[in-house]
Amino acid sequence: AAKAAGRGKHCFYEQSMHSEASDRQILENDLRQALDRGELWVAYQPIVRTTGEDVCGFEALVRWNHPARGPIGPDKFIPLAEECGMIEKIGTFVLRTAVKDAATWPDPVRIAVNLSPIQFNNPNIVETISAVLNEHKLRAGRLELEITEGVFLADNSATDETFANLKALGVRLALDDFGTGYSSLGYLKKAPFDKIKIDQSFVRGAASTGSRNSAIIRAIVSLAESLGMDTTAEGVETHDDLQLIRELGVSQVQGFIFGRPGDATAAAEYASSATIEADGYSCIREPRQ
Ligand code: C2E
Ligand code: MG
Ligand code: MG
Ligand code: MG
Repeated sequence: AAKAAGRGKHCFYEQSMHSEASDRQILENDLRQALDRGELWVAYQPIVRTTGEDVCGFEALVRWNHPARGPIGPDKFIPLAEECGMIEKIGTFVLRTAVKDAATWPDPVRIAVNLSPIQFNNPNIVETISAVLNEHKLRAGRLELEITEGVFLADNSATDETFANLKALGVRLALDDFGTGYSSLGYLKKAPFDKIKIDQSFVRGAASTGSRNSAIIRAIVSLAESLGMDTTAEGVETHDDLQLIRELGVSQVQGFIFGRPGDATAAAEYASSATIEADGYSCIREPRQ
């Protein structure tokens, strides 16, 4: 809480210094009220196995319907929420909503939730997650937490303990956006991840841009396999990329080719169809936005 308050002050200071301050201040004020006004909602994007094409889970992706500006993407408002002390409230909302919805899906189907480093570093995080799982009777193994290496950049001596406690709780851990930051290999050693999510920048167009991306993906897959971790390729949009991803042995795919993020109704429908059609373009679905 002290950290959040500090960040809030810092935000205010910065805003008074810059010309874009008022627009930012307005957006920040809007975001502070967005939750209470019901403007935030959670979209779900399917994650599909490369062998057999069945859906193994969904990633929860928060959405903001701004009453005047229309939809604003999380790439824009999550950093704002992190800087201004709102991320824990928003993050808990996403976690609760996602776990509640996932509890209505057939058992092996998982839910992946993004966890901001600020949430991860909250001393109550394990307790919070455990309480939400209990509240909705979701088996811990069906919750996957997506963590970026930002978690390791914060100087927090409790990081190892938090990882250990999350593992003990039985939730799964995924390292998100792998390959985009600094010295990611060191982080693989530090924490007991179950999965590596290969960043879109290596995946999109991998089949067409020559051999560099596919060499990198191949290396990540080999690394993950040696460490006993799954892999998910993010951002698969074309059949050429899908075919390449399969050939390279990536275990799961997430991308517009199998489905865009859709609402809870669309996800429930998708989740209850045990397998999806594998042939050609018939596998592309258009969930409600
Ligand atoms: P991420 O966790 O890496 O999520 C994957 C992003 O890739 C999502 O963007 C998704 O819509 C997009 N994506 C998936 N497949 C494709 C594809 O085939 N083509 C293209 N062009 N894009 C694809 P989105 O929903 O805009 O989210 C952006 C980022 O915002 C996320 O990246 C994550 O870092 C953050 N975020 C979203 N929801 C939350 C949340 O609840 N909490 C936190 N802390 N961060 C969140
Ligand atoms: Mg993610
Ligand atoms: Mg990612
Ligand atoms: Mg990302």
